Amino acid sequence: MIDKSDKYLVIGAGPAGLSTARNLQIEGVSFEGVEAHSGVGGLWDIKNPKSTMYKTAHLISSKRMTEFSEFPMKDSVAQYPHHEDVLDYFTSYAQKFDLLKYYKFNTRVEKAYKENGIWIVKTSDGEVTKYKGLIICVGTLSEPNHVKFPGEFTGQIIHSAEYKDPQQFKDKRVLIVGAGNSGCDIVVDAVHHAKKSDLSVRRGYHFVPKFVFGKPADALGNKQSFLPSGLKLTLNKAMIKMLTGSPEQFGFPKPDHKLFESHPIVNSLVLHYIGHGDVKVRANIKKFEANTVHFTDGTSEDYDMIVMATGYKVHFPFIDKKYLNWNSHVPDLYLNIFHPTDDSIFVCGMIEAAGIGWQGRFEMGTLLARYLKTKDKSPNLVKAFEKRKKENNANLSGPVKYMKLDRMAYYVHKDTYIDILRKETNSFN
Ligand SMILES: Cc1cc2nc3c(=O)[nH]c(=O)nc-3n(C[C@H](O)[C@H](O)[C@H](O)COP(=O)(O)OP(=O)(O)OC[C@H]3O[C@@H](n4cnc5c(N)ncnc54)[C@H](O)[C@@H]3O)c2cc1C
Repeated sequence: MIDKSDKYLVIGAGPAGLSTARNLQIEGVSFEGVEAHSGVGGLWDIKNPKSTMYKTAHLISSKRMTEFSEFPMKDSVAQYPHHEDVLDYFTSYAQKFDLLKYYKFNTRVEKAYKENGIWIVKTSDGEVTKYKGLIICVGTLSEPNHVKFPGEFTGQIIHSAEYKDPQQFKDKRVLIVGAGNSGCDIVVDAVHHAKKSDLSVRRGYHFVPKFVFGKPADALGNKQSFLPSGLKLTLNKAMIKMLTGSPEQFGFPKPDHKLFESHPIVNSLVLHYIGHGDVKVRANIKKFEANTVHFTDGTSEDYDMIVMATGYKVHFPFIDKKYLNWNSHVPDLYLNIFHPTDDSIFVCGMIEAAGIGWQGRFEMGTLLARYLKTKDKSPNLVKAFEKRKKENNANLSGPVKYMKLDRMAYYVHKDTYIDILRKETNSFN
């Protein structure tokens, strides 16, 4: 067994892993990283077997609202860059801050467990190594959430994780299930390739256009950052309502939640295609019968292909749930990072919030790195933090009442969350 019990192990070299590595480097915390794929960038590298990217995917948050503050994206890149530009960005980031040297690539963590207070990690290269602690940065959007419906569909069914290229739709009658951001992107792709492009929805959603007054919509919201969060929300809601109208006007059910109580759909094209009759909104699925889909509103339709855009599950297959204080859907961690009592295991990047971007993930890494450094050098300075960590009852949703859905178990309100991260980071001074 290799003994690296003076080092932390960062698992994953996506945006969260890279930014955590960068913070550990800044604070001088001893660590190394492993990445299952051959390079950095996480799911933004479409060649990564775990990537859920598709050929036409672009950022849905604008570049200035998403990038790391210390490393702005190039002016020459579009406001909503293509995934290849995003991968270039992360490759340049890793090079600029010399992060590649910390990582072993093509190396998957297969099992991690604790023995006598030390972590033992088995990797796909056959090595077994002792580490001081683990920092899990393996993302949240790679394990498909499969939804079952009664009956059997005899056409082709795939999950959106398997959707890569609009050519997959060529000359097919296609039904996309789920109008989240992926489902809406994918149905828009289908329009120019499929014979029929329908979208089955269970509930209503709010839609936000990508551009407002010629500017990325999310950047405009941020311009009001001097306003209190509640007022900012009210203003944004009024503006979006004025620009897109109500989803019911396009055949969607009335949303059962307010704007931002679930992730809004950032897409300027889906309403356009619905308005032109190229995409038809269908009700929830009742059952399958051969290649016919029966919907809950009593209608039915025949399809060749169904794409289940039914989201993803948090999944850490290499580590027993007992180590991460799981509630039913996700690990229940202080600020989504810290185990309440075990200070040798951490998760970075288990976060979802409108506008959180990669900088939000970077700041999770800042707090973690500062904590790890301070706890070793000046343990007294982290005592109050450790009490809050143990209580684990911070309100991360601020003025927003998120819907009580499994997939939203780790949603936070950006301003509230960043504010707490920064206060906790400063508490070690
Ligand atoms: C189509 C699409 C569009 C998106 N658009 C946006 C957007 O506009 N703005 C935004 O902020 N976010 C967006 N996201 C969210 C996206 O998840 C984040 O941008 C970001 O990629 C999350 O980074 P991460 O490092 O947490 O996870 P990932 O990018 O998933 O990286 C995880 C890494 O861990 C590695 N790994 C996994 N398991 C192991 C293991 N056992 N051992 C070793 N390595 C392992 C993987 O190979 C991967 O490289 C989008 C996601 C998708 C799918």
